Amino acid sequence: MATFIVLLGPPGVGKGTQAKVLADMTKFAHVSSGDIFRENLKNQTELGKVAKSYMDKGELVPDDVTIRMIRDRISHPDCGSGVILDGFPRTPAQADALEKMLSEFNGHVDAVPYITATEDILIERIGGRWSCRAQGHIYHQKFSPPKQAGVCDVDGSELFQRDDDKVETVAKRIHVYLEQTIPLVDYYRGKGKLFEIDGTQAVEQVTEKLLAALKR
Ligand code: ADP
Ligand code: ADP
Repeated sequence: MATFIVLLGPPGVGKGTQAKVLADMTKFAHVSSGDIFRENLKNQTELGKVAKSYMDKGELVPDDVTIRMIRDRISHPDCGSGVILDGFPRTPAQADALEKMLSEFNGHVDAVPYITATEDILIERIGGRWSCRAQGHIYHQKFSPPKQAGVCDVDGSELFQRDDDKVETVAKRIHVYLEQTIPLVDYYRGKGKLFEIDGTQAVEQVTEKLLAALKR
């Protein structure tokens, strides 16, 4: 049966960064709802056009659209041994839908690492984030700079700053997180799935803590 790990935490805390490390180590699929929306945006699909209007405002894309997209993604064969969900679920309705869809595959959410940091740290991390155009590799101008400015170390593609990483939109995204996603902390804690990880330290230290907690 496939393993399902849900990475929970505010925007900019390091979910994507940690998900990529974990995916490399475990060979589980890294499923990032934000990356799938951005891929659709790049390819100008209908889904991309719908998502853009919400993403630009820092709001969540409606549940029905998001749930359908994730259901479709986790049905792919590369998700057979395990999945690291990054950025989904983000609302109680999405968490309920996830539970239902996993039970169809005879699976369930195995663990929910909840990565935390103060708002100042989130703002500093998002403010310096650079993302890779081709595959969403993640850099930070100060904390994990690329070898060559503006170029992805892994695939050589262009690095860009996300439109929704502007200061005004970030404030809105943090507000939306506190209002709509925070309820999931109690939801997963109640199920005995949640463990809290201090996300304020360097990437490698956060990874160490994450791995130690997952082993337990
Ligand atoms: P971050 O990693 O900074 O939290 P994401 O890449 O996860 O940002 O998300 C970017 C945007 O994509 C969100 O602000 C939201 O508009 C949309 N989005 C991503 N995941 C979801 C989701 N599960 N439900 C609704 N909207 C989502
Ligand atoms: P999220 O997916 O939660 O929005 P990201 O993984 O995209 O977060 O990280 C946000 C920014 O912070 C990126 O620029 C990334 O390089 C940087 N970052 C991630 N983890 C750390 C860390 N532990 N220390 C310093 N910077 C980090």
